[in-house]
Amino acid sequence: MSDEANPFESLQSQIDDAAAYLDIGDDVIERLKHPERVLETNLTIERDDGDLERFEAFRSQFNGDRGPYKGGIRYHPQVSRDEVKALSGWMTYKTAIVDIPLGGGKGGIVIDPDDYSEAELERLTRSFAKELRPLIGEDRDVPAPDVNTGQREMNWIKDTYETLENTTEPGVITGKALDSGGSEGRVEATGRSTVIAAREAFDYLDKDLEGATVAVQGYGNAGWTAAKLIDEMGATVVAASDSSGGIYNADGFDPVAAKEHKNETGSVVGFAGSEAELTNDDVLTLDVDLLIPAALENAIDADLAEAVEADVISEAANGPLTPAADEVLEGKDVFVVPDILANAGGVTVSYFEWVQNRQRFYWDEERVNEELEAIIVDAFDALVETYERHDLENPRTAAYVVAIQRVADAFEEAGSWP
Ligand code: NAD
Repeated sequence: MSDEANPFESLQSQIDDAAAYLDIGDDVIERLKHPERVLETNLTIERDDGDLERFEAFRSQFNGDRGPYKGGIRYHPQVSRDEVKALSGWMTYKTAIVDIPLGGGKGGIVIDPDDYSEAELERLTRSFAKELRPLIGEDRDVPAPDVNTGQREMNWIKDTYETLENTTEPGVITGKALDSGGSEGRVEATGRSTVIAAREAFDYLDKDLEGATVAVQGYGNAGWTAAKLIDEMGATVVAASDSSGGIYNADGFDPVAAKEHKNETGSVVGFAGSEAELTNDDVLTLDVDLLIPAALENAIDADLAEAVEADVISEAANGPLTPAADEVLEGKDVFVVPDILANAGGVTVSYFEWVQNRQRFYWDEERVNEELEAIIVDAFDALVETYERHDLENPRTAAYVVAIQRVADAFEEAGSWP
């Protein structure tokens, strides 16, 4: 991972790559490369022993031209202003490629939550919610879970906001528990969009998904769901990994049994259906038809990309390829379905959650999955149309061309404010 880039610079270079194919003025492109505003705040909370501690926190509202800002809140020691700005930009183009009426935002607190009690995390989350209160709201900015946050934190933010505003407004936040206004189908949504996008890519490339071999890096929420669903589509999952290592069986294994083994032991390693143990890098460089990176950003650098043998990559993770790896894979004709489309199932079902909250009418899982399927297929078709029209080398550039055009149109159609 020698060529890790500043994420905000990566975002801006992706926008520049796409801008070359767009008839949009440099002044508008300049606007689309920067957040509209970033809240930087310091939260001081009381520890359980009575001492006070200060935490840095951010919320970047990148672009609201297409609708309320939308994006998660992460708790991680490496959260930084530039990371949050970049992630909020990627959210802007993610909501645009799947054409849902939302903008892009992202937030975070610089903290390792493992070092804090539940009561301390609740005080911290409520303190952040108090700072966010003037900025958020179902028509303004709608946060969601991200790294190290989940339904628990979302319920605290919702409760703080509703108490201070003296209202009920479940759509102020998504990723809630079902009983608190969450949506059916949200947990599986990211893995589901990853495999729908992969299926569309196989179809486009005239490749058969039935019997195709698949390797999955990362066996958490996104990775394991993708493994289960691609197996149900007739593909053969031959390898998987998590932070402890990888497993392999040339004839394929049962993804559900591998997950049960991980639930019992904490890792896929040692699973009885595996015939060989692999390193994480081995899993990424196997000769398979489809590779699904579903762990962390920058998992594949340029060196590793040289060794990648998959024909298609569907990015469940955010930013699993460094920009240099992307270039190497482009030269090797690997078809990469970019993260902003492949993992957009998460934000799309968050959008459905917000719609249901506003209607106060809830859908069953079948309807959620049908609506998601239609949105991801339409987004893939728009990507391919642009990919072919501009004779592009990289599907990622095509996705950005589509997405940037949509955001720029919304900005320009709004006209100028005196
Ligand atoms: P998760 O925490 O549930 O799972 C992450 C998995 O990656 C774990 O199994 C972990 O052991 C594994 N892992 C960590 N380091 C690894 C390594 N070096 N090699 C192999 N495996 C490793 O997280 P998740 O929710 O599944 O998210 C995974 C990725 O998908 C992240 O990049 C996230 O931003 C992205 N994503 C998730 C969602 C969602 O709705 N969950 C939505 C959009 C994008």
